[in-house]
Amino acid sequence: MADVRRLIILILCALLIFESIILLNAGFFDKDVLDRINEGYKNYYNSQSDDETIEENIETNEPVEEEEDNNIDHEDERDKLDRLEAEERGLLILVNKQNHLDPDYKPDDLEPIRYFASDRSSATRYMRAEAAEQFHKLVEAAREEGYEIVMTTAYRSYGFQKILWDNYVAREGEEAANRFSARPGQSEHQTGLAVDISAPSVNYALTEDFANTDEGKWVAENAHKFGFIIRFPKEKEHITGYLYEPWHLRYVGEKVATRIYEQGLTLEEYLETP
Ligand SMILES: [Zn+2]
Repeated sequence: MADVRRLIILILCALLIFESIILLNAGFFDKDVLDRINEGYKNYYNSQSDDETIEENIETNEPVEEEEDNNIDHEDERDKLDRLEAEERGLLILVNKQNHLDPDYKPDDLEPIRYFASDRSSATRYMRAEAAEQFHKLVEAAREEGYEIVMTTAYRSYGFQKILWDNYVAREGEEAANRFSARPGQSEHQTGLAVDISAPSVNYALTEDFANTDEGKWVAENAHKFGFIIRFPKEKEHITGYLYEPWHLRYVGEKVATRIYEQGLTLEEYLETP
């Protein structure tokens, strides 16, 4: 019995020695190996900490910046959509000394204007349907505040503009006429989106004085709410090619008009902005 016990102890000792030899060969107790394992663990732990720090930064700082960026993006996006929408409705057509209309260009949705100065040609009392409707609203809103505003001229055909132009040139010469009148094909009135307005306080004349009347001031401050801009603003002749005309309104739709009004732009500048 004692021999058997001694034999078992011997076998166990032999196994223990055998295992130690294997582990030593595998480098298990090698200090370098242990150091490397420790180093690896430390690196892993530190990288975890860095990630947590970044996560904290994202939580505390970045959302604010992102929100601002998003607002700018959304605003830009909205502007682009507004412009696209107005373009699709044909409201942003650019007519000036560089961009002409064909002699036979005529809008197919002209509607009669209700409020007009009766001593002008009845052939010009039309605007495109949407512009006409909005013009009526503008006149009615002004009337509610006690101001009388009427159109003197709205749509002009190519032929009508040619007669006007030829008359101005005969009377004042081509150079002078070019600063205040448009050659045929270069007049915005041919689009059916432009309207010249006036008031009894200036005897229904088209004059710069209109800007100083109560009606003129009301129009300058409120026209954009109805989709109209003052197309040839003061001191923008170098851009528009025309002298200041506080009486000449151009319909571009409410959203674009508001943008142009708020930023003090001309239509040319608005359309050039990417
Ligand atoms: Zn005009």
